[in-house]
Amino acid sequence: MSLTITLLGTGSPMPSPDRAGPATLISAGSGPAAEHYLVDAGRGVLMRLAAVGLGAPNLSAVLLTHLHSDHITDLNDVITTRWVTTLQPTPLTIVGPVGTTRVVDHIMASLAPDMAYRIAHHQDLTDPPQVDVIEVTEGPVNLPGMTRIRTALTDHKPVEPSVGFRFDFSDDIGTASAVTAGDTVPCTGLDSLCAGADAMVHTVIRKDIIANIPLQRLQDTLDYHSSPEQAAQTATRAGVDTLVLTHYVPPIPTGGDGADWRALAAEHFDGTIELGDDLHRIEINSR
Ligand SMILES: [Zn+2]
Ligand SMILES: [Zn+2]
Repeated sequence: MSLTITLLGTGSPMPSPDRAGPATLISAGSGPAAEHYLVDAGRGVLMRLAAVGLGAPNLSAVLLTHLHSDHITDLNDVITTRWVTTLQPTPLTIVGPVGTTRVVDHIMASLAPDMAYRIAHHQDLTDPPQVDVIEVTEGPVNLPGMTRIRTALTDHKPVEPSVGFRFDFSDDIGTASAVTAGDTVPCTGLDSLCAGADAMVHTVIRKDIIANIPLQRLQDTLDYHSSPEQAAQTATRAGVDTLVLTHYVPPIPTGGDGADWRALAAEHFDGTIELGDDLHRIEINSR
């Protein structure tokens, strides 16, 4: 295998007993040399990461698509847990749109009492967590490792800026690529980012359902997300092989197979459609 996509959290702002908040793991390679990129850090992300045998110390970087609360609720947990579960200082790289530095600075400020307690209590813990923030707009993201990462601006207005990420992995067999679109309506930035990619992970909401719920707060969400149909159209335009749907609004009921979601996407996309519960995994073999 060369690229593995794990849907760590398939939920949304609406709490669900079975679905953690938005988070997707992109793993490149295998074994101890594998690289693990966490895209967004929603509610419960470290519990889901533990379920696949990984923890905060294993993350090569955290990449944020945007600064909506549901996508970053547990970033503080990732920062703290990496800090206290590694014996050597291991700086955490956080990549995100402009504004990420400010948010991370405030998270660090909120953690100040905790840092002081732990530094006072543990002799071998002398420094606060080290966090390196890289703010991006579009183009290559320069990280160490074998995976080439690129970003482009997406359209989730008035949440601005928002970005998607593309991961290109190559080994002696060939190449494999995956895009995490995040929350966005169809846009040229995403089109160019996912052109020819093997897989695209796209957050979606069911506009046909939400439009019939007489709650303005819900109606407001229609104009800045893609429906399964729109995500499928983006995948078709870009020539993507596999479309992965996540961030289900409303949640797919427990035990449901999401056949209705799949059918809506299949009207506009001939490739493979993946969706499922938290921890659903998709393997992209290089070729
Ligand atoms: Zn959002
Ligand atoms: Zn969202």
